Amino acid sequence: MLASKLYAPTLREVPSDADVISAQYMLRAGFVRKVAGGLYTFLPLAWKSLRKIEAIIREEMEASNAQEIMMPILQPAEIWQESGRWPVYGAEMIRLTDRHHRDYCLGPTHEEMVTTLVKNEINSYRQLPVNLYQIQSKFRDERRPRFGLMRSREFIMKDGYSFDSDEDGLDISYQSMYDAYNRIFSRCGLYFKPVEADSGAIGGSNSHEFMALADAGEADVIHCTSCNYAANIEIGQPGVIKQEEEPLQELSIVSTPNAKTIEAVAMQLGIPTTRTIKAVVYSIDGKVVLAMVRGDHEVNEIAVQHAVNGILEPEMATDEQMENVGLVAGFISPVGLVATDNLSIVVDESVMEMYNCCGGANQKDAHYININPKRDFNTEEIIVAPIRLITDEDVCPHCGKELRIDKGIEVGQVFKLGTKYSEALGATFLDNSGRPKPLVMGCYGIGVTRTLAATIEQSHDENGIIWPRSIAPFEVVIVPINVKDEALMDISTKIYTSLQSSGIDVLLDDRKDRAGVKFKDADLIGYPLRITISKHSIETGEVEIKTRKTGDVVNVKIDEVITSTKELLSTL
Ligand code: ATP
Ligand code: MG
Repeated sequence: MLASKLYAPTLREVPSDADVISAQYMLRAGFVRKVAGGLYTFLPLAWKSLRKIEAIIREEMEASNAQEIMMPILQPAEIWQESGRWPVYGAEMIRLTDRHHRDYCLGPTHEEMVTTLVKNEINSYRQLPVNLYQIQSKFRDERRPRFGLMRSREFIMKDGYSFDSDEDGLDISYQSMYDAYNRIFSRCGLYFKPVEADSGAIGGSNSHEFMALADAGEADVIHCTSCNYAANIEIGQPGVIKQEEEPLQELSIVSTPNAKTIEAVAMQLGIPTTRTIKAVVYSIDGKVVLAMVRGDHEVNEIAVQHAVNGILEPEMATDEQMENVGLVAGFISPVGLVATDNLSIVVDESVMEMYNCCGGANQKDAHYININPKRDFNTEEIIVAPIRLITDEDVCPHCGKELRIDKGIEVGQVFKLGTKYSEALGATFLDNSGRPKPLVMGCYGIGVTRTLAATIEQSHDENGIIWPRSIAPFEVVIVPINVKDEALMDISTKIYTSLQSSGIDVLLDDRKDRAGVKFKDADLIGYPLRITISKHSIETGEVEIKTRKTGDVVNVKIDEVITSTKELLSTL
C-alpha cells in the first residue's frame, strides 16, 4: 500500500470528549471517526487491525472445532419473550417495530436466536457436541457510552455457543474455549489474566472473564501475589473478620444531630469507623434491599443481588422508596426492623461478629450504641451473607498470601450456561436411551473492537501507539527521505516490492511531506518497524531500521534488509 493513497486523515487537535488514550490516539492517527455517542466509523487502519484480530479468532476457533455462522442482527421479540428476557433486559436493548407493528430488537447477544436455530436441527445425542460462532456488530444502548471503543453502543463481538448432551461434555467444550481464548489474547499481544467471574443469577455455573490489565479498565481484578488466584472483585470471597469478644453492654440511644455519614457519627461519638455499621439501601427488581456492612467496608452490589436472588442489577434506592418502607435515610440499622414483601435486610457476615458497635436508631438524628448483632438483630428478619467487597488488605482465599488489586478491561468472557435457554425455548434432544433432554449450553464472547482499544491502552508512549506485530495495521513502514530523488525512490520501491513478495504487510510512505512529518506520523500510528532510506543509503548501501517499541536503530546492508526485517519482526 502507498501512503499517498491511504485514507488516514490525522488530526492535530484531540477532540475534548476523547476520555481515554486509546480514543485520543485512534482519532488523532486517523483510525476512527466518531459519528455520535458510542458510534464510530472504522477507517482503513482500524479496519485492517480489526481484520487481523478476527483472523486470529477464526484460526483459533477452527482449531477448536467451532464453526462460523452468521445470524441476523435484527431479532424478533417472540424468541426473547419465550426466554423471558424481553421484559427484563431493560433500556440497554434497542427495540423497534416493523411496518406491520411487530416488535424487534437489534441483537445485544444471541442466546435466544442460536437456541432457536439448533432446536429445529439437533434431535439426537449423535449430533452432539456442536459449537457455533459468529463475528458481527452488536447493539447495546449503554447508559453511559464512553472510553471510545471500549464502551460503545454498536461494537463488534465474536459470540460463540456450545451444545452438549451433559455437564461433562460442557466441561470439555468450556475448557477448549478457555484455552482458545488464552491463545487468542496472547497472539494479539495483550497482557491479560483470566479471572473468576460472576455467573449471573443462574447460580452454580462457572464463568471466567479475560481481563486486559490497564489503568483505563472499569473492572477491579483481585489477584494473589503468590498463587494463581485471580477474580473479578465482584466475586472475590472476603474472609469473616471476627472482633475480639467483649462483655455485652446495654443497648442505648444517643443523639447525633445531622450525623448522616459514618465519618460524622464516628467523629461525634469519638469512636473508630471499625466500630460502626453502615447501611446502604438499594432497589432490586422493584424491592427495597437494605445492605449492612462494617463502617470501613464497602458493599459488593453483586453479592447483595445474589443474596436476594435479584434478576436486575441493583440501583440506589430513592428517598421516596426508603420512606415507603419506613427507613430514615442516614440513621438506619436492622435493630427492630421487620422484613416485608417490599423490604429485605442483608447483613454482612463480619457485622455479625461485631460487639458493642454503633448504628442508626431508625429515627432522625439518633444512633444506637452498644449494638450486639447476635443479640439485637432479629435473625428471622435478616439474611446473613458475605456482602462486603474484598480488599487488598484481605488474604488470598486459596493460599492465605498477599493480594493485589489492578484495573482490568474485560475483553472476553466464557460462561457455562447449562440448560437455562434450552429449557425456556424447548431445545431438547433424545439421549442414548431415547429420553428427551435439554441441550447443555456454554457461551463465549470476545469484544473485538474493545480488544483493539485495550491493546492501545497497554501499549503506547507520548508519541503514539506501539502495535504488537500481530495486529498492527502495517508491520513495516518505509520512509524515503526525499521522494523527488529518483535513486532514493528506486531503492525504496525495490525494498517495498521485495518485502511485499515475502509476505510482509508494508506501507511505502511516498507522500511529498517533509521527513519530520512522516516520522511523527509513523510514531503516532505505531508501525512496529520503520525503514528509513536517505542519501546516506545511496552512498553506503545501508538503510536504517528502527523498532518502534524499543527505539533501537540498526543499519543494515540493502541486500540484507529482508532477512533483518523478518528477524526483527519475529521478536515483536
Ligand atoms: P460489560 O460488563 O463491560 O458491560 P458485558 O459483560 O455486559 O460487558 P458480555 O455480554 O460478556 O459483556 O459481552 C462479551 C464481550 O463484548 C465483553 O467481554 C466485552 O469485551 C464486549 N463488550 C460488551 N459490551 C461492550 C460495549 N458496550 N462496547 C464494546 N465492547 C463491549
Ligand atoms: Mg461479560
